[in-house]
Amino acid sequence: MSKDKDLLASISDTSDESEFFSPMPKGYRKGKARYCFVMGTVMSGLGKGIFSSCLAKLMQDKGLKVAPIKLEGYLNVDSGTLNPFRHGEVFVLDDGMECDMDLGTYERMLNQDLSKANFATSGQIFSSVLYKERHGDYLGRDVQMIPHVTGEVTLKLRQLAMESDADIVFVEIGGTVGDLENAYYIEAMRELAYEEGPNSCCFVALTYILEPKTLGEQKSKAAQLGIKQLMQCGIQPDIIACRASRPATEKVRQKISVYSNVPFGRVISLPDSASIYMIPAMLREVGLDFEVARLLKIEDRIKLRKERKAWAKWCDFTDKIGSADRQITIGITGKYTSVRDSYASIINALEHAGIALGCDVKIKWIDTSNLTDKNAAESLKDVDGIIVPGGFGTRGAEGKIACIKYARENNLPYLGLCLGFQMAVIEFARNVCGMKQANSTEIEPDGPEPVIDILPEQKKIEGLGGNMRLGGKDIELKAETMAWKLFGKADSVRMRFRHRYEVDPRYIERLEEAGLVFSGKAPNQPIMQILELPSHPYFFGTQAHPCLTSRPLKPQPMFVGLVAAAMR
Ligand code: GLN
Repeated sequence: MSKDKDLLASISDTSDESEFFSPMPKGYRKGKARYCFVMGTVMSGLGKGIFSSCLAKLMQDKGLKVAPIKLEGYLNVDSGTLNPFRHGEVFVLDDGMECDMDLGTYERMLNQDLSKANFATSGQIFSSVLYKERHGDYLGRDVQMIPHVTGEVTLKLRQLAMESDADIVFVEIGGTVGDLENAYYIEAMRELAYEEGPNSCCFVALTYILEPKTLGEQKSKAAQLGIKQLMQCGIQPDIIACRASRPATEKVRQKISVYSNVPFGRVISLPDSASIYMIPAMLREVGLDFEVARLLKIEDRIKLRKERKAWAKWCDFTDKIGSADRQITIGITGKYTSVRDSYASIINALEHAGIALGCDVKIKWIDTSNLTDKNAAESLKDVDGIIVPGGFGTRGAEGKIACIKYARENNLPYLGLCLGFQMAVIEFARNVCGMKQANSTEIEPDGPEPVIDILPEQKKIEGLGGNMRLGGKDIELKAETMAWKLFGKADSVRMRFRHRYEVDPRYIERLEEAGLVFSGKAPNQPIMQILELPSHPYFFGTQAHPCLTSRPLKPQPMFVGLVAAAMR
């Protein structure tokens, strides 16, 4: 014991005589939190985030506190400046962090709000190291990838463990083993496992089993090579999850087991699943949850009674998947560019609402570049409701406005999200208030009727990145409005925002006199956040992104309302 203590003390020593460098947050206790690392081999896109969130969910069900973190390889400090059509949607956390869409998967699966502590990029890690270097924090040492940059990574993980008081920190490493970008993350995991000691860390490698059409059988070589590469980094995986379109055969799993030193029972098959919400059951079936608990020697913290309850609740939800007896189609204006990912949260929110109402929600993507008042009816003839989602820039704006006009005049359920809220204001101003030239200054900078204009706080900001009105904000609801009823007659609700423009307060009175109701506003600021049309069966817009906070067990009311209205 005392020997152990000495070793621990020496590891924390940062003096220049010692080769040990391992910055720890103050008060950090080794052994309190355990770490489960999830990484991918062979290729990207294996669903590491989905896997990790499902496994974390199973541990959370057992009464354990879990804290996920995603480590991104790119040098951007956050995801705010990334193009969603390249990288998937930008997910916004309550504290305003703009991050990878995987954080959305974690929030939904765990029904837990995350923060900037749950997301790191190489940009953040390097900025922090360079900042410390300029402040002389490295005590005259040459600052190196190992141990200083890797030390920054382990510090971040330990900080998360402490702040969240987690039993298990789930660490997802972005990219693929072998990438130059994430090599130092992998080295940092190795160091952390060494420093924390036996049974503190568990390594899960996701891999892919090829099945070339011409051969008609599964091949494990690529998977073997991928795992080998990981072992060359000094990491012995504890669990290997074989992703494939079909279940991995016993033979393939045996081969992988032999080549990787991983017991056969811990080489599991993880075929494609129709719904990600079915994956926790798949992992449970092969006993992966208890396997992880055993590997981390954390069984004594498990609360079985809690687990039974949580699991029953979850199964109530998953039992409803795929058993809908109704079907509707929601049109979403957006060019379907094979990147479904750019609208991931909206698709999820519609799914949650549909499952809650026993309705299968189909999506029709509507390209608005050539849509006009003349052909709107034709383009929208087979949809039961419309969403105009968030977006930036001018592409397809007039077509979106034509869609909204059609929805308003034909009692078609409508939900406008952020940009879709702004477009609804423009449509109403033009076609109801008679301000024919109404527009947004984002689209027409010097237009005569700028009903949508840049937020005053935004005018002084220069440069892109992290500078919008961001994150969770309270919305004051106006009593007796449809929104107020939709949210269970609450005085206020909280939603997440990401915008630079707003309704110009000078136009509010004119819009309201003509029948538009702003039923949600920012407290103490004239920022309009929800609009509705009382004369319409379901016409809502919100400056927020309600899709970001929809959860499988807690579907978001504006989406539930839309699907319900579309069913009518
Ligand atoms: N482009 C609009 C704005 O900046 C809408 C933003 C959005 O839809 N996220 O306000």
